[in-house]
Amino acid sequence: MTQTERRIEETGSAPGPERKPFPPAALQELQDRFGPDRILTAEWDLIAYSYDASFSSALRPGMPDVVVQPDTTEDVVFAVQVAAKYRVPIIPRAGASAMTGGSVPRAGGITLDLRRMNKVLEVDLDNLQVLCEPGIIHDTLNAQLLPLGFSLPVDPGSTKMATVGGMVANNSCGMRAVRYGSTLHYILGLEIVLASGDIIWTGSANSKALQSASGMNLTGLFCGSEGTLGVITKLRMKILPRSPARGVVTTFFDRLEDAGEATRQIFRGGIIPSALELMDRAAIQAVNKYRPDLALPDAAAMLLIEIEGLPAGVAETAQAVAKILATLSPRVEWSDDPQRVATLWQARSVMGAAAGTVKPHATRVATGEDIAVPISRMPETLGQIALIAEKWGVGCTTYGHIGSGNVHSAFVIDPRNDDEVDRVLKASEEIHELALAMGGTVTGEHGVGFVRPQYMAQEHGAALSVMQAIKRALDPLGIMNPGKLIPMED
Ligand SMILES: Cc1cc2nc3c(=O)[nH]c(=O)nc-3n(C[C@H](O)[C@H](O)[C@H](O)COP(=O)(O)OP(=O)(O)OC[C@H]3O[C@@H](n4cnc5c(N)ncnc54)[C@H](O)[C@@H]3O)c2cc1C
Repeated sequence: MTQTERRIEETGSAPGPERKPFPPAALQELQDRFGPDRILTAEWDLIAYSYDASFSSALRPGMPDVVVQPDTTEDVVFAVQVAAKYRVPIIPRAGASAMTGGSVPRAGGITLDLRRMNKVLEVDLDNLQVLCEPGIIHDTLNAQLLPLGFSLPVDPGSTKMATVGGMVANNSCGMRAVRYGSTLHYILGLEIVLASGDIIWTGSANSKALQSASGMNLTGLFCGSEGTLGVITKLRMKILPRSPARGVVTTFFDRLEDAGEATRQIFRGGIIPSALELMDRAAIQAVNKYRPDLALPDAAAMLLIEIEGLPAGVAETAQAVAKILATLSPRVEWSDDPQRVATLWQARSVMGAAAGTVKPHATRVATGEDIAVPISRMPETLGQIALIAEKWGVGCTTYGHIGSGNVHSAFVIDPRNDDEVDRVLKASEEIHELALAMGGTVTGEHGVGFVRPQYMAQEHGAALSVMQAIKRALDPLGIMNPGKLIPMED
């Protein structure tokens, strides 16, 4: 074990379950069904499935014993039944864009690569819904819907990588959550293969109604369950008509607190923007270094506010926002010219890449990167994160969705340097604790995976034992994605 791995055991992720040898008879059954084209067993193939977009899985990858690629719900049932029969883990995986190692095995087993199940089965514009398979990429779905004037408006930064099934499993959000909410708000029903191999529909199996008060909300239970309760094999999703026009307001403040005050005043002015984004001084400096042509002024904070609607309404609302902001900052600009709107957005869109340029020969690492706090405490939280980064001597730019209190801190370190890795893990631990102290949560949208189960008891108290009881009831053998989301003593 390297010093880094030892440190992670001490400071970071919860320990994983024990790995056992994979039964040859199980492999034979899978080969008979999926071979030779839809099964992977070679080491070089399995390595590709041993990590995702998370920093933790780069430090602690986890190999599956075998990967299968189902085409149908029946294929998924088959694989789950093999896992149950031989009591081996089964791990759903889709875009592998998650930041928390959700699709990375902790104890080997069968990885279920769902990307071949990527069809749109029905588009029903009159009833504002689509029926699709889980492996379709969010951007691919929207590319089919946008020419029709519709979209699935949840807008993760990973839209070109994340699948709709993965977004449901992680209850993803994005920059437009302030107005459009999270993925949960768009699920009308899910087809699920349970750990027993049984198939159910949440929502009403035969209903196309947009609302229902019938039965327990099982959709809410499976959304955000990160593949630990069952495999999503079909999704009925609500879609919305696209607003024809957009406007963007940008403003710069000398004090972080003024960005918080501006946010309060925008809401109190009766305005709900479609995005309300904050960047701190370090983030502004990073963007200037990466894209000098954008020439952002030096400031303690930048706000970017997007308005959507009909053209006349957009102009009126953007002007109202600019008027509110003018009482707090002399540096306010607004535009509803599509080209200028695109340019103003670039400052925020290049943020992820810009963060990595803060320090030469270093990489941006996602750890402690996704806390959410009450909106009113966001400026204070950003100030505290800057102090934590300074205390541990690690570079950090911070930005986030201030409209919904979601903070993204981007540490920049040399990951080959054990000492820097040690310090960034300590800093990230303090950021998670900060989130809870601020009355917030350790993850606003990226989820728990194997990176954050150790915070669940503190965050959820007695409710954690209810989650554990649900897990035992639906997955008594503990085969569904073990070692993720919630700590299980057994
Ligand atoms: C550059 C970048 C930007 C990002 N921006 C955002 C953002 O703005 N907002 C946001 O919320 N997230 C963001 N993310 C995180 C990530 O994209 C989301 O968590 C996304 O929902 C993961 O989808 P996926 O298809 O990649 O799932 P995977 O990473 O493959 O899997 C994620 C989890 O879902 C489970 N799972 C996947 N498919 C199924 C299924 N069919 N049934 C049951 N369980 C399943 C897996 O077991 C795993 O636990 C970003 C990531 C990157 C790399």
